[in-house]
Amino acid sequence: MISVVVPAFNEEENLHVLVQRLSAVLEPYDSYEILIVDDGSSDQTRYVLRQLSQEYPAVRFLSFSRNFGHQMALRAGYDHARGDAVICLDADLQHPPELIPALIDKWHEGYDVVYTVRQPDPNLSWFKRTSSRKFYSMLRNVSGLEIEDGAADFRLLDRKVVDTLKQFKENDLFLRGAISWVGFRQCRILYQPAARYAGRSKYSLRKMMQLAAMGITSFSTKPLYMSVLLGFGMSLLALLFGAEATYEYFFTDATVSGWTTLVVLSVLIGGVQFIMIGIIGVYLGKTFVEVKNRPAYIIGDTDEIDETTTWVQPDEADRKFYSPLT
Ligand code: UDP
Ligand code: MG
Repeated sequence: MISVVVPAFNEEENLHVLVQRLSAVLEPYDSYEILIVDDGSSDQTRYVLRQLSQEYPAVRFLSFSRNFGHQMALRAGYDHARGDAVICLDADLQHPPELIPALIDKWHEGYDVVYTVRQPDPNLSWFKRTSSRKFYSMLRNVSGLEIEDGAADFRLLDRKVVDTLKQFKENDLFLRGAISWVGFRQCRILYQPAARYAGRSKYSLRKMMQLAAMGITSFSTKPLYMSVLLGFGMSLLALLFGAEATYEYFFTDATVSGWTTLVVLSVLIGGVQFIMIGIIGVYLGKTFVEVKNRPAYIIGDTDEIDETTTWVQPDEADRKFYSPLT
């Protein structure tokens, strides 16, 4: 069985076309499912999904209780997909469904991870292109992971990779990093991304920065060491300044001018300390979040009840009893 997982956040206009095109592509395969994860949309996405799941037997959906973010939606998809191979793609049709047979062919050849790399895209803004390239090169340097430019979350994973990912208990899991990290037999496919079918990008600058910060801090502790190095560098500078000031005090008459040095120094050192405390704070904060071990996402609605979903439907009597309004 083939599973296709699609995260969708306010994608009401895209879902019909998406499901049509996916069904056309998946038709030749024996059995398949299309699992759409509604990431707490505020538009009609949820109702469209309910409709689609009635219309197409292969369509399943999960609906988060609020917006948990793209990565969480993908995770929920991996957790709930039933296929022997799980393919993820975006709901906006930028990842062409027609590439799926090529992914499946590679899987049949024996690859466990078939990831895609987008070729330079004229539709993409200069900002998105450059920021993505810079981000990947920084991530490679800091984390030592092999992640290629333009490798997004459009990929096929074999069941055993999905099961491995499910064992990751950390809350903010950066999937692109994790998948590169777990190994297995990986291969890549190049593709030309299409333009977004309808609507606007759901990845705000804030979300992009969050993703970048998560990518770096969840795969590397190098920034911690960087802060230590920086601290050493600054201390050395301070020592030199100190020697110079002492020299001036004893052998020249110009000591009053040292006031400038003092101010500059204290400000600089204060700054460095702030940087260090900040970085430690980031990791401490992450530890705090992980230690709490909260569920990574919450499903508020789904078209089915399976063993992984706890689903409480209050009956009418209970609701009357507990409702503060009655
Ligand atoms: N998405 C999501 N939750 C979010 C933001 C985005 O599930 O908080 C989904 C979105 O519906 C789409 C995919 O993630 O299917 C990629 O988002 P988008 O196309 O807006 O990003 P871009 O292609 O502009 O980077
Ligand atoms: Mg997109």
